[in-house]
Amino acid sequence: MRQAVRKSRTAIAYASRGFRYDLFTMPETRRHFLRAAPLALPALSVAVQAQSTPYSRPRLKITDVRTAQVRGHGYQLHVRVYTDQGIYGHGEATDSAAGGVPLVRGFRNMLVGQDPLNIDYLWERIRTAGIFAGAQGGQYITALTAIEIALWDLAGRAMGLPVYQLLGGKMRNRVRVYCDSANHHPDDPLAKQKLAEIEAMGFTAVKIDIDEARDPNRFDAMNWTASNAEVDRMVKEVDFVRGCLNKRVDLAVDMHGRYDATTGKRVAKELEPFNLLWLEEPVPAENIDAMRDIRQSTKTPICCGENLFLRHGFRELLEKRAADIIMPDMQKCGGLLETRKIADMAHTYYVPVAPHCVVSPVGYMASAHVCAAIPNFLVLEWHWISRLQLWKDFVKEGEIIQKGFVTLPDRPGIGVEMNEEAVRKAQIPNTPWFEEKS
Ligand code: MG
Repeated sequence: MRQAVRKSRTAIAYASRGFRYDLFTMPETRRHFLRAAPLALPALSVAVQAQSTPYSRPRLKITDVRTAQVRGHGYQLHVRVYTDQGIYGHGEATDSAAGGVPLVRGFRNMLVGQDPLNIDYLWERIRTAGIFAGAQGGQYITALTAIEIALWDLAGRAMGLPVYQLLGGKMRNRVRVYCDSANHHPDDPLAKQKLAEIEAMGFTAVKIDIDEARDPNRFDAMNWTASNAEVDRMVKEVDFVRGCLNKRVDLAVDMHGRYDATTGKRVAKELEPFNLLWLEEPVPAENIDAMRDIRQSTKTPICCGENLFLRHGFRELLEKRAADIIMPDMQKCGGLLETRKIADMAHTYYVPVAPHCVVSPVGYMASAHVCAAIPNFLVLEWHWISRLQLWKDFVKEGEIIQKGFVTLPDRPGIGVEMNEEAVRKAQIPNTPWFEEKS
């Protein structure tokens, strides 16, 4: 009704200027009017289209890309993408992000002046520009990942929508989190108590690491075959933690890709009685056939992929059925939409996704948006139990994990804001802090 009244008034206004319209053929908007008017004003029409979107939002332009570097659980590269309208987006990358600042500076030249809402276009443009410069993975893709996440945050802020909404909407309101714990040594007098504290925090899943480079039972520092005594130690640690935890709490075990296929098969077999949530990377994920051999040899579920990049890195893994669960790291594998695409590929093989995640609450919440949007999400890693204070102080919203779950905020973008005063205490010395040309 209101629209009809508006049309009537506009028709009267146009008619009074000498144009003939009726309510059925009259254009809906000023843009349509300018195109359809008998006395067309093509130059003005072009000008209007250049300055606005179909919904009359002013067109954004990227003006700058700046960085900050922080030491939290490892290295964090924070990237902000700025626009001509004061809106910016914040992204974060880790691990292979070390050394990524010069790459971000180079990408800046491809971003300034562009519309930041064309996220996939900008991502693909930078990726394909680097085909001969290492854009198949590693630092190149990780630096691009930080920018991609910043662009999603920016898009959400510009449109007033949370990122999960832009990724297809929510499958779930909250995201299950597992706690990576170093409390797995039976001889540690505090281990049992610390595991009980993790349970009391509400976590429904825990992960421990059983690889040990300094194991005294190791005969050779370089050889990757675990001795009998090493395998016994691993089994005892799993047995100890399993015995400490409530039965309903899931247990995952990581070997960090530090062993050979023989050891991987043996450990996977020995751990079968514990019904693990998964055994992670008994061998590196770079040889898909070796991973598949281990998977086929055991009923222990095998999880891998934290060091794989892009859809291309996961294609063969999925095609060869080499993993029961995949674990892309959203802060290095290509970003939020790339992870959504990887997860969708995995879903066609009925493979769940348990993302690797060691970043700050900024990157963590960005990951949570994807976890909320994909059907085959299993559980999201959290690795800050020994750095709780920095974790809680990192964003202005405070603690984002409640009783072992992250609830998705409805705020625009990622939905958290870095608390710079607190985070600067962990800034890497002599590095820029979101300064121009940083
Ligand atoms: Mg791992």
